[in-house]
Amino acid sequence: MNNKYKILIIEDESNIRTMVSTMLETNGYQVILAETCSTAKLIFDSHLPDLVILDLGLPDADGIQFIKHVRKNLLTPIIVLSARTSESDKVIALDCGANDYVTKPFGAAEFLARVRTALRINRHSTKEGKLPGGKFTLGDMTIDYDARRVSIRGDEIKLTQTEYNILAVLSEHCGKMMTYSAIIKAIWGESADEGSIKKLQVNMANIRRKLGIKPGEAKYIINELGVGYRMDQ
Ligand code: CA
Repeated sequence: MNNKYKILIIEDESNIRTMVSTMLETNGYQVILAETCSTAKLIFDSHLPDLVILDLGLPDADGIQFIKHVRKNLLTPIIVLSARTSESDKVIALDCGANDYVTKPFGAAEFLARVRTALRINRHSTKEGKLPGGKFTLGDMTIDYDARRVSIRGDEIKLTQTEYNILAVLSEHCGKMMTYSAIIKAIWGESADEGSIKKLQVNMANIRRKLGIKPGEAKYIINELGVGYRMDQ
């Protein structure tokens, strides 16, 4: 019982709260519930859950307030659950520190996959701490941070410095949806404008081609149009 992951669900709509908690409990997770932002903060501080599922439209405050509260001190993964579909809402939540974003309505299989991915990030950040140093593997791909070398099934992939840096940054945040502006800031240290997003997209197209990813194929790197990129299988 003690080794169960503890997941805090913050959602004011009772039918969604019940659906999500049932889904998680039947898959072996321990669930704690909150209906408002203020109770969620209290529960979070006393229970320190392993993962948070957060609705943005809460009765007493915007869910963004909760993300900011957690991110003052902790890297606990947060999956935002929302009816809001606009890209700017996703970008704001992600830039405030949410790890991922699921739009209602969603399927159980996809949702549970996102939960597992987010919990993997948690284990990563507590046990191994910050990369680089050592190696990173994802499927057939290996990144050797010391040698700045990327290979697939042992064959080296020739990347430019920028292409390598982009891939390394995404791998350091594997599982997290990174917004365009977060990647651009990490690579070029500038704020995202039309030109830098274009530059990122051109580099990404080259990376995908060199890694042998077919157009439209979601392998290694997932692109959420208008939002950003996530490294994941
Ligand atoms: Ca709501």
